[in-house]
Amino acid sequence: MPQTILVINSGSSSIKYQLVDPSIGVAMASGLVERIGEEMSTIHHRYSLKEVTINEPVPNHEAALQQVLDLFEEIGPQFEEAHIVGIGHRIVQGGRYFSGPTLIDDRVKRLIGELSSLAPLHNPPALKGIEVCQKLLPGIPNVAVFDTAFFQKLPNSSALYALDRDVAERYSIRRYGAHGTSHQYVSTRVTQVLGDKELKQIVLHLGNGASASAIVSGRAVDTSMGLTPLEGLVMGTRTGDIDPAVVFHLQRVANMSVSEVDNLFNKKSGLRGLAGDNDMRAVREMARSGNPRAREALEIYINRLVKYIGGYAAEMGGVDVITFTAGIGENDIDLRREVCQRLEFFGVILDEEANNTRPREATTISRRDSSVRVMVVPTNEELAIATQAMTLV
Ligand code: ADP
Repeated sequence: MPQTILVINSGSSSIKYQLVDPSIGVAMASGLVERIGEEMSTIHHRYSLKEVTINEPVPNHEAALQQVLDLFEEIGPQFEEAHIVGIGHRIVQGGRYFSGPTLIDDRVKRLIGELSSLAPLHNPPALKGIEVCQKLLPGIPNVAVFDTAFFQKLPNSSALYALDRDVAERYSIRRYGAHGTSHQYVSTRVTQVLGDKELKQIVLHLGNGASASAIVSGRAVDTSMGLTPLEGLVMGTRTGDIDPAVVFHLQRVANMSVSEVDNLFNKKSGLRGLAGDNDMRAVREMARSGNPRAREALEIYINRLVKYIGGYAAEMGGVDVITFTAGIGENDIDLRREVCQRLEFFGVILDEEANNTRPREATTISRRDSSVRVMVVPTNEELAIATQAMTLV
């Protein structure tokens, strides 16, 4: 009899879910409730070959989950055949408390709430998701899987900022990272596929949000996201690294408030700010048709990536494998080629034919004589959450 985990990713106005059987790595059902609390919401549910989309108002997270449970009964899989043994919740910020998946009790909920100051957009709705599950699915254990857990044991040399120690400690300021579930999943796949536990790896998670990590023998030693997901690589709408003095400057010369700068850096910058669109496909299209801003946006994006790869290689004293993952990493053939060309100086040689695909499995895209192996490994955060949750239920 299959045993499944219901994976929940609860955002401020959305709930994404997947019913996963971790033993075979397959999503049996999945869906999304969007625009919760707005005039009109959308519910999308998929089960085997059946797909439904419903447009109707969904006032809050509890109503949203109730709708989802009703759809499980109506469209499938019914609860008797679903065999849900646990619920895995994606939690963005686990701070200094959580270094792995954790069974949720009142103390864990309190700590997730306490960490909201570090993730004001993410932890409060995740907590709401947990409470709704406890109410509507009593008796099924809930497990928290933290986006920061994989980076909780970063060495202080990369986790601490060169900031006054008292201030940093009092306000819990350090590099927590994010996308940890994906970096851990992808680097573990590389280890399994190559059968080598001692690798020095760089993982590039390039989606709408983007981050890089350096991993030695399975342990993360550095990552590009910081106190919040704003730091590091150029992203769809985020600046990534930027001189913090830009904040003071904008405050002084443009009279911008903290929340205006926050919004500017997180929502209106990155590819969107540079090229007018946060979607890499659109930016590529514009660049192909000769738009100079889009071309420059790509150059800035790639330059930042190359800088991180070089930095991490130096930090680890070498690199065995560089792996691309997430929407852009898995699909943007040109980007992978452009990045690898910039790395030719340290012996990276791309296999053009192998790169010319959008692999569904872990695939090597460098040539045999390349000094560093380059791979594409599709990420699967839901499967990773389900697998981790299953260990505790
Ligand atoms: P999220 O962070 O929202 O999970 P994804 O991992 O789905 O993001 O990645 C979204 C990004 O992947 C978008 O910028 C999208 O343009 C990009 N992408 C998807 N397919 C392609 C493609 N064929 N070529 C280039 N970029 C792509």
